Order: sequence, then structure tokens, then C-alpha cells
Amino acid sequence: MKISILGSTGSIGRQAVEVIQKMPDYFDIVSICGGDNIDELRKQIKILNPENVCVKSQQNALLLKKEFPKLNVLYGDEGLIEVASDKTNERILVSVSGKTGLKPTLAAIENKIDVALANKETLVMAGDIVMAKAKENGVKILPVDSEHGAIHQCLSNREEVEKLIITASGGPFRNKTIDDIKNATVEETLHHPRWNMGKKITIDSATLMNKGLEVIEAHHLFNMPYEKIQVVVHPQSIVHSAVEYVDGSVIAQLGFPSMHIPIQYTLTYPHRYEGIETRNFDFIKAGRLDFEAPDLEKFPCLKLAFEAGKQGGTLPAVMNAANEEAVFMFLNGKISLWEIYEITKKIMSEHNNILNPSLEQILEQDKIAREKTKNQLLNK
Ligand code: MG
Repeated sequence: MKISILGSTGSIGRQAVEVIQKMPDYFDIVSICGGDNIDELRKQIKILNPENVCVKSQQNALLLKKEFPKLNVLYGDEGLIEVASDKTNERILVSVSGKTGLKPTLAAIENKIDVALANKETLVMAGDIVMAKAKENGVKILPVDSEHGAIHQCLSNREEVEKLIITASGGPFRNKTIDDIKNATVEETLHHPRWNMGKKITIDSATLMNKGLEVIEAHHLFNMPYEKIQVVVHPQSIVHSAVEYVDGSVIAQLGFPSMHIPIQYTLTYPHRYEGIETRNFDFIKAGRLDFEAPDLEKFPCLKLAFEAGKQGGTLPAVMNAANEEAVFMFLNGKISLWEIYEITKKIMSEHNNILNPSLEQILEQDKIAREKTKNQLLNK
């Protein structure tokens, strides 16, 4: 399988490299793209021996070219799109963070390259456009997100589905009070009980915005109305998600929490191989499994996402933009955790929704929402 990784130095990207290292005969690496983490990229170039590497800045591109003269080195957003458009690829993994994923994903689809998609923002922003283009080009979108990977494995006949059940660990504040959440520090918020992930998604997991983004992602991936998507808090993160059928039967996908398994599944689909995961699942070791309803008073971002998803148009992209910028502001100590919700809600309420938007309209509203979010600081 000839593949490329966009975002190879992030949390998902590094775990994908671990998966690939365990199956060296199966994969042939065409390109890797890794921001500006040059040390990690150097290591990956030696391990994976790619033909092309893409970095963020021209300066780092020149540096790498000097060190690896045989390597084709690209940079910037244009470099990412060139890598994603390369028809040598049979599949690409898009594991860049935030809105950077949208254009390269569309470029891969237009070139009929299957996409293992770890970047949920792509579907939150422009799910209608992305899925329609994928259908038109006969391209598979294979979800890396563990919940959606689980649903993908549990889905047989979509016509007979009653509902999708997306599980949520509940994050670090599941048992805390609203006041605890309002006064949470960055450090507490980054301490996720189950999953070790990048900073942005870890904050989103603490506010449950991540689950909201996943609901929108599921709506697009599986063409399911919002009324048929349920979020269930499951603190052990053993059941990764489930599908209920019209006859009352429920099929769930289970396993110990590990991103290696869903990453490998999207890279080897439709086949399964012994790979990096060596533990066998053990129901007895897993012990009890608990389930509860999400607390929307404590985690109102989940409500925002359902609202944005149901209204559609440019609103999900605007919500995503405001949330992403607000998360950065929180990480930089500029606002409190609760203000991520308040600011995102405000930006959404001021937005004049555009239904059936073009990609240009989505990107324009994304930009406006980001500027407005940053301006909230000036008004404080
Ligand atoms: Mg997830």
C-alpha cells in the first residue's frame, strides 16, 4: 500500500508511524508532512525513507534539503496540497490539526485517492461538500476517530439503522462541579483520564466540544440525521461506539483504549492484520462498564454543536472557528475554560447563517469568525 501522512509529527501521525514500523512489508511511504518539528521529521525520514517531505516553513525546507540532498522537500500549504494530490498514493492519512486539513483532503479526493481522515474539522466545516465530492469520485473516507472507526465496523445495512450511539469518556471534569469547571486551570484541563492526545483536542474533550464535533462528523460520514445520533458517557472507554438496528439489536465495537487500532484499521481496510497491538481484549480485566447521560449544564458546548449541526450551512464552520481560536486563547492564559463556551456561543448567535454555502463562502466565514473571536479579547 503506497501511502502518505499529512501531519506525521502530531499525536496521531507518530502513532501511525509506529503502526507502519510494525508492518514494513505492507506499506510504502510516498510522502510525510510534519509542520516544523524538524527533529521528529529527521527521525521519521530515516525510519520511513519517503520520496517527499513537506514542512511548514521555507527555512526548514532548505535545512532538510541540505541534510538529505536526494529527498524532494516541499513546504507550506501548497506543499501539503501537492503531496495530497500525488496520484502515486493509494491512500493518504490526514492527521493535521484544525482547518489545515480541509484543502488537502479535497485535493486527495479530486485525485481519487482514498483518505484515512483523522481531521474532524474538515467534515465539521464542509462535510456536505467533502462527502459529495468523495461520492462523485468514488473515494473512500475512512474515519480514524475511534468512535467513527467503531461505527464503521458495526454498520452493515444503513437502511435498517435505528440510531448511532457515540460514546464519550466524559473528560477530566465528569465528576466536577460547574464551579470547578469555571475555575479549571490549563494544566487540569490538559490532564485527560483516558487518552493521550494533542492539546487542542484534549481541551475540546474537557468541554465535550470534541464530542459535539464528532456528532457532526458522524452525521456527514454516515449520512445520519441528528435525531438518530445519541451521545452516551462511558468513562472506561472500552465500548468505542455502537449502532442500534430497527429490530432492537445493538452492535458495539470494543477494545482497550488505544489509537493504534483505529489508525491501523483505516490504513489496512478492508483487511485486518496482526499489527502493533499485542494485548488481547479481556472482558474480565475490563470488569464493569458504566454508562450515563452527558450533563449539558456542565458541558453546554455539546448542545452548541447539536444546534450548529442541525441548522447546517456555514454555522458549523463558524462554531468550529470560534471554538478553535478560543481554545488557543485559553491555552495562552487569556480566557477561562468557561469563556470558550461563552465566546463560541456569542459568535454563533451573531452569525447570519448561509445555507448550502460554497467552499469559498465557508472559508470566508471561517476567517471572519476567527477575527471576531480574537477581537473578544480587546472588548474585555
Ligand atoms: Mg474521538
